[in-house]
Amino acid sequence: MDAEAFRREAHRLADWIADYLADPSRYPVLARVNPGDIRSQLPDDAPARGEPFDAILSDFERVILPGVTHWNHPGFFAYFAITASAPGILGEFLSAALNQQAMLWRTSPAATELEEVTLAWLRRLMRLPDTFDGVIYDTASISTLHALAAARERAVPGVRFGGLAAASPDGGPRYTIYGSDQTHSSIDKAVILLGFGHEALRKIPSDERFRMRAGALRDAIAADRAAGRIPLAVVATVGTTSTTSVDPLEEIAEICAREQIWLHVDAAYAGVAAMVPGHERLLDGAVHADSLVVNPHKWLFTPFDLSVLYCGHMDVLRSAFSLVPEYLATSAAGGVRNLMDTGIQLGRRFRALKLWMVLRHFGAEGLRERLAEHMRLARLFASWIDASSDFERLAPVPFSVVCFRALPHGSEPNAADAERETGLDAFNERLLEAVNGTGEVFLSHTRLNGRFAIRLAIGNLHTTEAHVARAWHLLLEHFSRAIAD
Ligand code: PLP
Repeated sequence: MDAEAFRREAHRLADWIADYLADPSRYPVLARVNPGDIRSQLPDDAPARGEPFDAILSDFERVILPGVTHWNHPGFFAYFAITASAPGILGEFLSAALNQQAMLWRTSPAATELEEVTLAWLRRLMRLPDTFDGVIYDTASISTLHALAAARERAVPGVRFGGLAAASPDGGPRYTIYGSDQTHSSIDKAVILLGFGHEALRKIPSDERFRMRAGALRDAIAADRAAGRIPLAVVATVGTTSTTSVDPLEEIAEICAREQIWLHVDAAYAGVAAMVPGHERLLDGAVHADSLVVNPHKWLFTPFDLSVLYCGHMDVLRSAFSLVPEYLATSAAGGVRNLMDTGIQLGRRFRALKLWMVLRHFGAEGLRERLAEHMRLARLFASWIDASSDFERLAPVPFSVVCFRALPHGSEPNAADAERETGLDAFNERLLEAVNGTGEVFLSHTRLNGRFAIRLAIGNLHTTEAHVARAWHLLLEHFSRAIAD
């Protein structure tokens, strides 16, 4: 593709993307395809000869697009709703063009240094201490894996050479890791992958507001110590996946300091809320943490993917991961940082560019306003639930997620009866399916205290009060229909 052809196609794509972003609600939020539909329309082999870009684009629209679930849709309320904002998309465009591979400072001085600067900006916006150094990975799962690897490096002498087997000659699960019963499954995966064994993970019960019970954590640590095990790390969550509850950070930090246990904070979704007036103290307890993960690709309008790990001990992370084969040894002047030293992967994308563009485009004020607006919309939706006798809220709303369920036939909220609960679960599941079937909105679900809960998450930049009101209207409409059936 010569320069002129590239210019033409890039302009055409820019037009296509601008039109798409102007109104993604032209499409149903959820793709209306069956498994195999996309695959069956594509040939088994790559083309023998190159094809014109026209043909490729037309197949993109005809075959690929119908199989897209539109995360950009303002009616996307599932999981954690996210946004590929325009400045972030432009950053991705440039990043692809520059094709930086920032394993070493010298293979991309700009990617290396912009990452440092941008993460310092974000750290200050979130009111985190300057003792935290940041590094970008793709996802929170990978950030947390690295944090727990650093915790293991610090706690298990010789683990790098002899592995966990050398440290536990009797073969028993000697090290223990703690999270609440609400922690994300990425913690389980990290514990499994790091060789502790899944049984080493203690799920501490949460309270009626879905926050880890600090007293139960204290007891579990004491019991493990009494049994000869070694508590290695605690993962506290700021914004749990189901209800966005916030674990009592200060209390947990105190326990970890006293017990000399690594404290990792999973603030993947809600950490950014610390920049919003009224939430300034959200991460106060994290001052004493050893590491913290936050995902700008979740609630900071940065196109997927970009996760940030802040760590108070980059030297430990480096000693866990640094390994320099001869062909990568450099004689660069001292003081440079080589990003390959802080992670399992060697090659790294230039992700900082899009975050830098997002932070500059919106500015601190712009970001704060938008996050605050999402929280206002969530409170508004929660107030409609609270005012209706046909619905009940199932969790507090600290940020921009509301968990609730329908209560057909005016069921008494407190009547505990297994049969009634099973019926309610099935009714709510059907209601959710019906509402999602409209193509106008997409909500997801969770289970709280054994109950099926519908979950509405606000996080898309283009979601307005009208979209939230439409979701409420659809719920009411399909509730009435289901009752009438
Ligand atoms: N931590 C929390 C609290 C989450 O809610 C999620 C995903 O929703 C993750 C971690 C994992 O995020 P990622 O997809 O970036 O690995």
